Amino acid sequence: MIVKTMPMKHLSSLLLLSTAALQVGCAPASESSTQKAPSASAKMTSDTGTESPKNIIVFIGDGMGISTITAGRIFVGQEKGQMGEENMLSFDTFPQLALIKTYNTNAQVPDSAGTATAILSGYKTNIGAVNIKPVSDVQKMFLEGCGGDVSPTLTDKAKTSGKSVGVISTARLTHATPAAMYSHSVSRDIEADKDLKAPFDYDGCVSISQQLIDSDVDIAIGGGRKEFTDAQVAAWPGAVVSNKAELMSAPNDQRVLGLFNSSHMSYEADRAETEEPSLAEMTTYTMDRLSSDPEGYVMMVEAGRIDHAHHGSNAYRALKDLQALDEAVAAAVAKADKDTLILVTADHSHVFTMAGYPARGNPIMGLVRGVDRKTGGPDADYTLDKDGKPYTTLGYHNGPNVREADSDTLTDNMVQDRDYRQQTAVHLGSETHAGEDVALYATGPGAERFSGVMEQNEIGETLEAFLAK
Ligand SMILES: [Zn+2]
Repeated sequence: MIVKTMPMKHLSSLLLLSTAALQVGCAPASESSTQKAPSASAKMTSDTGTESPKNIIVFIGDGMGISTITAGRIFVGQEKGQMGEENMLSFDTFPQLALIKTYNTNAQVPDSAGTATAILSGYKTNIGAVNIKPVSDVQKMFLEGCGGDVSPTLTDKAKTSGKSVGVISTARLTHATPAAMYSHSVSRDIEADKDLKAPFDYDGCVSISQQLIDSDVDIAIGGGRKEFTDAQVAAWPGAVVSNKAELMSAPNDQRVLGLFNSSHMSYEADRAETEEPSLAEMTTYTMDRLSSDPEGYVMMVEAGRIDHAHHGSNAYRALKDLQALDEAVAAAVAKADKDTLILVTADHSHVFTMAGYPARGNPIMGLVRGVDRKTGGPDADYTLDKDGKPYTTLGYHNGPNVREADSDTLTDNMVQDRDYRQQTAVHLGSETHAGEDVALYATGPGAERFSGVMEQNEIGETLEAFLAK
C-alpha cells in the first residue's frame, strides 16, 4: 500500500482529534430485570430476564431536538383543529424514555456522522467520520479507514444473526446517517466515486455509494441518485426503482434499491404525492417485505430533512417533516407484531427555540399574543419587544435572518408563510446543531433497556447485544 501524506491544512479542519480519552464508552449496559422502568443503576447491575426482540426498527429524526418535538406536537395538533398543546405524537405514548448524550469524541456539539456511528455501531467517533474508530493519530485513522480492519456495521451484525436489513432515508442514501448502517468512511464527504480525490485519494478508500452496492442491505430506499454511477446502479443485485409506482410493483423476491430523487428527497411540504413515496409508505413497504424473513429484520428509518430545514431556519418545513415521521412511526406501530422493538430518537439537536409567553392555542408558527391577565384569554394585541415590534414564538439562536432594531415589522402573514425563515440572534449563513441531550422513546421487547441518562453509543451497544443472542 502506498502511504500518502495527509495535507495538514485539511486535516486540521476536518478531524480535530484530541489525544486522550478518544474511546468514549461505557461499560456495556447489562441487561435489566423485567421491572417496568428500571433506574439507570438497576440497568447496569442485573443481567437476567431481558427478551431480545426479533425485529428492530430504529427511527432517527435528524436534528429532532426536544424543542422540535414539542413545537411539532403543537403543530400537528393545530393541523387537526386542536389548540395543539394537548396533542400526543405517536411516540409520546411509548413506555420507555431516555435522555441521550450526543457529543462526538472530539466535538462538544456533534455532527450526524459521529452520532449515527454511536447509535448504530455502538461507539463514539470523531465529527465527520462514519464507522471508523477514533485513534490519536489522524493519518493512521485515514489509513485504517481505507481498506484496513474495520468493525462490523449494524447490517453485518444483523446478517450474522440471520436477519434481513432495511435502510430508509429522506436524505441521500449516501448521507451520513444512512451511511452508518452499511459503510465505513474516514469522511462523510466521500459519498460518490468522484469524491475520491485529494485529500481522500488513499489506496483502499471506497466511496459510500460503492459500499452500499457491495453491502448486504436488502431494501435501501431514499434519495441520492447523483451519487451513483450508471455502472454502480446496474451492478445492484436486485430491482432498481425511481418512483412510488415502481417501488410498489417491485418484485417481492428481489432486493430493492430505490433512488427517488437526484439528491435528497423532497421536503414533505413540497413532495409530489405521485412521484415520491411518503416516509410512512416507505416504512410499511419495507416492513411488509422484510417480515417474510422468519429470523426477523433490522430497519433504520431516517427523517433526514428535519435537519436541513432547520439549517435554513425554516421551521415550517422542519415541522412538516416531523409530522411525516410521526405518521411513519404510527404506521409502524400499527403494523408491528409483539416481537418488534421500536426506537425513536434523534442524532443531535438544533438551536431552535419556542418562547415568549404565547397564550394557550396561539398559532405555533405565528406572532406571540400573550395571556390577558384580566380575562385569562389571549391578548387582543401582539406582545411587543423593546423596539416596539412583534415577534414569533419560534426562533433560532443562530442563522441567516438576524433580528435587528431596524428589521421589518413582522406580520402574521409574513411569519406563517411556508418559506419564512425565523429570526436569529447570531448571524451565520447556516443555522447550526445544538449540543444538549436528545430524547429516545422505546416500545416493545427490550425497551426497558433504555432509561435514564445514556451515552449515545449505549444504544448501539444494546442493539449489538440483542443481535448477539
Ligand atoms: Zn445538520
